[in-house]
Amino acid sequence: MYAKVIVDISNNELDRIFDYSVGDLDLEPGCRVTVPFGAREIEGYVMELSENTDCPPEKIKPISARLDDYPVITAEMMELMRFMRKKYHLRIIDVLRLFIPSQMRGGKVKQLSRKSVSINPDVCGEQLIKPSAVMQKNAYDYVRERGEVSLSELNANCSAASVRNLIMRGILSVKDVEVMRTPYNDLSVSDMNVTLTAEQNNAVERISSVKNKTVLLHGVTGSGKTEVYMRCISKALEEQKSAIMLVPEISLTPQVLSSFRSRFGSRVAILHSGLSVGERFDEWRRLITGEATVAVGARSAVFAPLKNVGIIIIDEEHDSSYTSESNPRYLTAEIAEFRKNYWGSNLILGSATPSIESYYKAMKGEYELVEMLNRINKRPLPDISVVNMCNEIYAGNNGVFSAKLERELYNCIGEGNQAMIFINRRGYSSYVMCRACGYVAKCEQCDVSLVYHKEEDALKCHYCGNRYKTLAVCPNCGSEHIKRGYSGTEQIAEKLKEMFPNEVILRMDNDTTQNKDSHLKILREFAQKRAKILVGTQMIAKGHDFPDVTLVGIVDADMSLHFADYRSVERTFQLITQVAGRAGRNKKAGSVVLQTYSPNHYVYKYAISGDYKRFYEKECNLREVTKFPPFTRIVRILVAGESETEVAGALKGMYEKISALARDDKRFVFLNYMWAPVRLIKNMHRAQILMRILPEYDSLDEIYDIVDEYKNNKVSIFAEINPNNLS
Ligand code: ADP
Ligand code: ZN
Ligand code: ZN
Repeated sequence: MYAKVIVDISNNELDRIFDYSVGDLDLEPGCRVTVPFGAREIEGYVMELSENTDCPPEKIKPISARLDDYPVITAEMMELMRFMRKKYHLRIIDVLRLFIPSQMRGGKVKQLSRKSVSINPDVCGEQLIKPSAVMQKNAYDYVRERGEVSLSELNANCSAASVRNLIMRGILSVKDVEVMRTPYNDLSVSDMNVTLTAEQNNAVERISSVKNKTVLLHGVTGSGKTEVYMRCISKALEEQKSAIMLVPEISLTPQVLSSFRSRFGSRVAILHSGLSVGERFDEWRRLITGEATVAVGARSAVFAPLKNVGIIIIDEEHDSSYTSESNPRYLTAEIAEFRKNYWGSNLILGSATPSIESYYKAMKGEYELVEMLNRINKRPLPDISVVNMCNEIYAGNNGVFSAKLERELYNCIGEGNQAMIFINRRGYSSYVMCRACGYVAKCEQCDVSLVYHKEEDALKCHYCGNRYKTLAVCPNCGSEHIKRGYSGTEQIAEKLKEMFPNEVILRMDNDTTQNKDSHLKILREFAQKRAKILVGTQMIAKGHDFPDVTLVGIVDADMSLHFADYRSVERTFQLITQVAGRAGRNKKAGSVVLQTYSPNHYVYKYAISGDYKRFYEKECNLREVTKFPPFTRIVRILVAGESETEVAGALKGMYEKISALARDDKRFVFLNYMWAPVRLIKNMHRAQILMRILPEYDSLDEIYDIVDEYKNNKVSIFAEINPNNLS
């Protein structure tokens, strides 16, 4: 018998299957094994078993060992691997690495075990312990009463010397038992037994009445989507099926975790980047062994090793974190769709602001549309007032807050409520510029301006993380008139501290959430009302449910509006709706102050009236006329390399071949090549080919083949479809 093995080395030439002989090992497809490879022993995965091989027998080496008790790649995941390989043009090994915890590979993480003590039934302990040996008798009774105790507990409660003595004489026996590390074990569990609203009930009924469908659940902020998800999961569990629930990393809040824990107990496994290595390994194993049947996690949890999946839920489906933007690139919803089809289950895409693409599919009947258009208990959506910041400047207010926002902040805090201030820019100020000569401080390795961070007293590059000294004088002309650009989170927090010297101001952005669990900590502090004001980037926009937040301030709503990106208006609409949706979720009404320099932009009109559908129609029309997704696919081929000439060469070569392909082909509505908007990142020159292609051109294989032809060790080339980020 031969095993076809893929070895765990990432290398273009090596991404193929090698034959090994099985010998008397007990193997099945999906097993992780070690094999001799050149002079080394490395890990690999059995893809297939076969009676035949094309290799000359004398060249075939035997598999060294099988590594786990169960195949780590299930039959479903084998198929998914083939699907992803074809669809996204990925290497086999890069896909397989997504399926198992990275720390498991190469044996970097071990099972955790503890010593467990019980009474040896083969020895008459009672008679062997002398009546005078009171301590021994105590230890013996301690174990007998409990049946089994951990050695550490026993030692802590009884005389360790006596315990040792009893073990030595064989009266007590010790064995190793495995312990699972459970993340967030200290989580308070609280589960409200709510009665579903009519809309929630309808949603649950509709979802459970369909099979093998994708359902778009459009539910306004605060309409109670989480409860609907949990009911649907319960139904799947009742049918002995499993469930996967995905949330954006950042909205995996203590609230969500604790509701899932209280409802589903130890059947829940959490997959989250904030877990320790051991926790992640153990949670993953609880899933593959079937001990846990509900996987809750961020994007990568879509690969949860569950069998018999009854339902997959993607909450906040519009969120950009569901697109993997580095190798291996994939779209979470497409993976979920594959798994849904494989198991004949349902896929739920939930959002208050569905992506234009998803809503379009719902309109075409490709997805079932289920709506929840009211908040729980008919609480009103918050009132949004738009402040024209140009008028503030006329009135002599150069500050970051309008008079209205300041006033409302004082009222809100004065009444003992909480406020959230949203600004989608971290650091203190966006750029540093010389007023005399126009010099702008830029990163030496990237084509971007530096951001001033006051706390660290440094200029930082947000692309590569490099730090530079702050400028007292202009390095170009010596002028001392250095101007700072738009405010960021740090500056807003500082300003709030001046306004409310006695209050704790929390700040949540990339800089304050570098440590494991730090974002959970900030949210917990805010939930416990130890702070009245939370300032943050879009991290604070998602999913959070704080009942006492009555005011939301959006400092600079235009921020995301003017990016040269076809999705910038959609993103702005989503952000405003999501952030605004944090206000007035409980008994108290909420209000939102939105500051903008372009108050007449249509996006604000729809955001204020909370009219998703009208916004969708307008936006969708525009996309149709201008031929943008969902009416076309954008394909971007990004070339990066140290040598400008090599990059330009590869770019031109590919462009010519693709042009030939596109010539006289009406399915290509746009094709061009150019330097990327950010031309240099980490000293890598970047250029791109952009094309927009009609859906009828469905296989991109020919384009991928051209890309492959130009890949070499001087340039890296990636093809991306509808990328989130065009910089
Ligand atoms: P969404 O995700 O749609 O924004 P959530 O799921 O966070 O909304 O629910 C908003 C709030 O309403 C939560 O505090 C939740 O506990 C509460 N809630 C949900 N369903 C009900 C119900 N049927 N009755 C009362 N309260 C509910
Ligand atoms: Zn200058
Ligand atoms: Zn840089």
